[in-house]
Amino acid sequence: MHQSIAPSISLATHLECSHCNKHYPLNTLQTYAHCCQKPLVAKYDFAQSLRPEDLAGRPATMWRYQEVLPILKDDHIVSLGEGMTPILNLKKLAQSYGLESLKMKDESLNPTGSFKARGLSMAISKAKEFGVKHCVIPTAGNAGGAMSAYCAAAGMQATVIMPKHTPRIFQDECRYFGAELILVDGLIDRCGALATKLEKETGAFNISTLKEPYRLEGKKTMGYELVEQLNWNLPDVILYPTGGGTGLLGIWKAFYEMMDLGWLDSSARLPRMIVVQAQNCAPIVDRLNGVDRSTKAYRESLANGLAVPTAFGEDMIMEVLYESGGTGIAISEEEMVAGVKEMAASEGVLVAPEGAALLKAIPKLKASQHISDTDSVLMINTGSGYKYLENLD
Ligand SMILES: *Cc1c(COP(=O)(O)O)cnc(C)c1O
Repeated sequence: MHQSIAPSISLATHLECSHCNKHYPLNTLQTYAHCCQKPLVAKYDFAQSLRPEDLAGRPATMWRYQEVLPILKDDHIVSLGEGMTPILNLKKLAQSYGLESLKMKDESLNPTGSFKARGLSMAISKAKEFGVKHCVIPTAGNAGGAMSAYCAAAGMQATVIMPKHTPRIFQDECRYFGAELILVDGLIDRCGALATKLEKETGAFNISTLKEPYRLEGKKTMGYELVEQLNWNLPDVILYPTGGGTGLLGIWKAFYEMMDLGWLDSSARLPRMIVVQAQNCAPIVDRLNGVDRSTKAYRESLANGLAVPTAFGEDMIMEVLYESGGTGIAISEEEMVAGVKEMAASEGVLVAPEGAALLKAIPKLKASQHISDTDSVLMINTGSGYKYLENLD
């Protein structure tokens, strides 16, 4: 599918292999970097001046950063109002966990109840730009619902492949949005294999995490937003519930882009990025700890967003952890359930178990001296607890 598109407000210039930096053109529908079998990342021309003041009066959605996003024509944007989610100051929990500052960016307020809306709004907008008619996605739950919603809005056909054990509500929302739903025995890696097969057989465009370059661009807007919302300051520590790692990579990418734009000082101390995973499925934490993963059987988790046995962007995630001075930690199912209840009762927010895992990571990270009392800590609550309620007892 080749198509030339008129120049636009977007400063996007090309895509690059995340491993060898080989360039790939923007005007062709791209998947991943076939040279190295690694994710492709979008690059921009930051020489043109864009100032924070320019953002004044723009919509309170992720599309306020349109220059640093890859969509070339406004008409192609498929938006349900995603982004610009609030940052809450969790004063009571800060006190009980002995922290000077504990904040939470609440992504549960996005369309379809999770931050997957950001990535899928971007990916489906870009697919629309290329005239794609049918998309397929392997998902642990939330990404499928989000893709189905944006495909419905864009008038595209959607096929969602999900583990059979995924709670009913994640399945139902896809059907309501008019998607075809395929249930598979096993975890998301099995769904991914079937998506690749369907892509070959039907020509559907595969929106699998980081095998498509633009979900990352949607998720990076969390990084732009949190800096803007913290009045151009950075937290000391960011806690991120990590499955495929797109959000973590996106936030990190945003910080570097903001330095290139002059919005952050190039000598700014970037936050320590901390990966939080489920004990049932913690491949990144295992790698950090030098555990032999070939003998491990990763299992499903209540936090289905974390049940990702192999992340296509794993090398990039490891680089961010190393470069930022971060680490990784795994949380049990019981701790997550307790965390959901604790956050609800003490702060009035009903977070996904993925978000609750972050809270439960804090005492452990303090004990291992990865977090100190005086650090400002920002948690990214990636989803709404309402979708998980039936399964939390
Ligand atoms: C998908 C998902 C995650 C993991 O996101 P990645 O950016 O792919 O690591 C975390 N939490 C929830 C609620 C999710 O749906």
